[in-house]
Amino acid sequence: MKHAAMTDDAIEKILDKEDKALDAGELAERIPERPDLSTVYRALKRLEMSGRVNSVTFFRAKKHYYSGKKNGHFLVCQDCHEIITFTRCPSSVLEKELKEAFSYMILSHKLLFRGLCPTCARARAKRERQKT
Ligand SMILES: [Zn+2]
Ligand SMILES: [Zn+2]
Repeated sequence: MKHAAMTDDAIEKILDKEDKALDAGELAERIPERPDLSTVYRALKRLEMSGRVNSVTFFRAKKHYYSGKKNGHFLVCQDCHEIITFTRCPSSVLEKELKEAFSYMILSHKLLFRGLCPTCARARAKRERQKT
């Protein structure tokens, strides 16, 4: 049990400092004790349930994790799967509206925009031109 708490703390610390969302494999590599993946997954489940860590799913079923203290702001490319984390938050107006409309105390939010990065958008346009 003591060991489990250590893994939890290590993961939380890494994610609080990190700007990008990381998957379980990337997290395992960054923990000095090098826990196995199942230990990391168990820790992430505990951390997520208690709100210390947030998760987001970009593609298929793979989860990425980020700090429970932060809001999630992501821009992802559908074709090359590049993930950009942005910090400028556009949601304060919306939050105020939701607060008033539903009498909710908003604690956090997650914004995920899907699209095409400039390289992939160019490649797509080129393919379209070649088709015709
Ligand atoms: Zn791309
Ligand atoms: Zn925000």
